[in-house]
Amino acid sequence: MFGRVPRRSNNTKYYEVLGVSNTANQDELKKAYRKVAIKNHPDKGGDPEKFKELSQAYEVLSEPEKRDIYDKYGEDGLKEGMGGGGDFHNPFEIFEQFFGGGAFGASSSRVRRQKRGDDVVHTLKVSLEDVYNGATKKLSLSRNVLCSKCKGKGSKSGAPGTCYGCHGVGMRAITRQIGLGMIQQMNTVCPECRGSGEIISDRDRCPSCRANKVVQEKKVLEVHIEKGMQHGQKIVFQGEADEA
Ligand SMILES: [Zn+2]
Ligand SMILES: [Zn+2]
Repeated sequence: MFGRVPRRSNNTKYYEVLGVSNTANQDELKKAYRKVAIKNHPDKGGDPEKFKELSQAYEVLSEPEKRDIYDKYGEDGLKEGMGGGGDFHNPFEIFEQFFGGGAFGASSSRVRRQKRGDDVVHTLKVSLEDVYNGATKKLSLSRNVLCSKCKGKGSKSGAPGTCYGCHGVGMRAITRQIGLGMIQQMNTVCPECRGSGEIISDRDRCPSCRANKVVQEKKVLEVHIEKGMQHGQKIVFQGEADEA
């Protein structure tokens, strides 16, 4: 901590965002991140911009090399070091790495979303008369369902080939220069297979869904308007959203 270069105006923001002093150690940084990340998480109604900002702040300050660059040259130094793009990890990834994906207990919406389709909201206009007397309305909607021809595999044979770009791993290591004579190796999602590790050849594509694994299905839901329903009242249909 000794011998730091005197601060300049643009290298204190990250510390301020996390609410720590510029001599904070890793423990203090972690505690600070934990506190502000939970408070500002978009799932809890926080501002996504603010969440992104504090994630970047934590990402930089928690890595000694990056912190050093930041302390010396501020954000501009980082941008130069990262090849001009200043690209950071996904703030949600950092958050989930930190909290193991269960920050909000079993009710974490991210965990739930993977098990069933995302909630889809449709608005239905009804007349005052309908509300007084009760009525049944039809609501037609389309949704994506898993292709029944290939059972969501996207290929005719059901045995897709291994991606040649990543050898089936789904991730690829890339190296890049981050300036000041440093080389950084990092993993990135394979662009060939978008992380699935599998590739479906043109011949093997499911003709029904063109290897998209899902098809659009039109469906008409019957909505029962009960007497005395309120404006903006929600009627929930279980399991009717996208399957993928
Ligand atoms: Zn791949
Ligand atoms: Zn198919």
